[in-house]
Amino acid sequence: MPPSHDPPSTMDGAAPLGTSWLTGSHPHTRHAIGRLAWLLPPYGVSCSVLGLAVWMGLLPGWKVAFITVFSFGGLAVFYALMRSGWHLRHREPTLAYARVLFSLTCVALSYALLPPVRGLALQYLCIILVFDMNRLTPLQVRVAAIVAPVLIVGMLLVAVHLGLSTADVDTEVINLAMAAAMGPVLLIVSGTARRIRRQMLDTRTELTRTLDRTQALAIRDGLTGLYNRRHLQQRLAEELQRQRRNHRPFCVALLDIDQFKRINDQHGHASGDAVLRAVARLLPAAMPQTALLARWGGEEFLVLLPDTALAPARDVLQRLHQAMAQEDWPAVAPGLARVTFSAGLCQSVSTDEVHRTLERVDQALYEAKALGRNRTIVQEAP
Ligand code: GH3
Ligand code: MG
Ligand code: MG
Repeated sequence: MPPSHDPPSTMDGAAPLGTSWLTGSHPHTRHAIGRLAWLLPPYGVSCSVLGLAVWMGLLPGWKVAFITVFSFGGLAVFYALMRSGWHLRHREPTLAYARVLFSLTCVALSYALLPPVRGLALQYLCIILVFDMNRLTPLQVRVAAIVAPVLIVGMLLVAVHLGLSTADVDTEVINLAMAAAMGPVLLIVSGTARRIRRQMLDTRTELTRTLDRTQALAIRDGLTGLYNRRHLQQRLAEELQRQRRNHRPFCVALLDIDQFKRINDQHGHASGDAVLRAVARLLPAAMPQTALLARWGGEEFLVLLPDTALAPARDVLQRLHQAMAQEDWPAVAPGLARVTFSAGLCQSVSTDEVHRTLERVDQALYEAKALGRNRTIVQEAP
């Protein structure tokens, strides 16, 4: 199975760098460069230690210089590939496999050229494979575990053949046998690490989905699916604030189904619920797309019409009265002849508070009821 193209995560210890001029703006590039940056400390420390050894006269300077240039040159090439966006063509955009093979080459080079640091080089082998192994496929881990001793032996033989290094056969056989024994252990550990990482990512995805679902449900009314009162109150406050900035009108209407108690009494509570759902279905059909609709309470609905002046808002409500008149109510509740609503409508005033706007529509609704129901009364600006 190929490694997944997982979204950048700070949970696996590779926090993207914050400076975009250094890392670019693409999240996968930032993540990949963040991952590459983790190699700087171990590379820096080992090259510094080698430099110190040169200064103390323990190692030949040209070999250490060669290894240092090779190592940092390779990192620079990776950085360039990432900054150019080339790495985004790969399923695994941190280029973990290529980085592992490159690091193994650096270790093999150090092993071959610098006999005094061979023990340390073998330790680095483990670190390299462990650091990225949950990003490699099982096949890639297997290849890396085989490539490591092969590279070491190969480079050692070349270095000895060219007279650039020495090797004590007994010690090298033991060293390399130990390096080779690491392979199966790494395979087991990498399998476990990959499983844990997959579980962690699955859990995170599931949590995000649950949170999204919960948030979506928290703002909805269970019976009608319209927004609930709390959410629309919040949106109304936001709309008023927006109006203070841009001075564009918006309208609010409070609708109340007429004689709803009678519908419940005569047709049953379930039919009453069906009527509420039917009204919730008719509402958006009569409204512009931008309208925000809420079930305000029992059989009351609040409509917020952003960017709408009083005249078009009145037309919208008129359309809804017509839609209610044309609805096939017997299909909603057998024996139910018609359902009407009364409404209070007002245009917002930027100096109004939320509660004041609501008082105005409530008052208009009261008038609509008092005047005989099945109508919309407009509350003119105070
Ligand atoms: P008016 O024309 O003056 O508005 O009269 P009305 O009967 O509609 O008003 P009233 O306030 O007397 O009755 C509202 C009824 O709505 C009372 C309540 O039982 C009913 N109700 C509230 N919530 C629900 C609900 O979720 N489902 C059903 N079926 N009925 C509900
Ligand atoms: Mg009511
Ligand atoms: Mg009513």
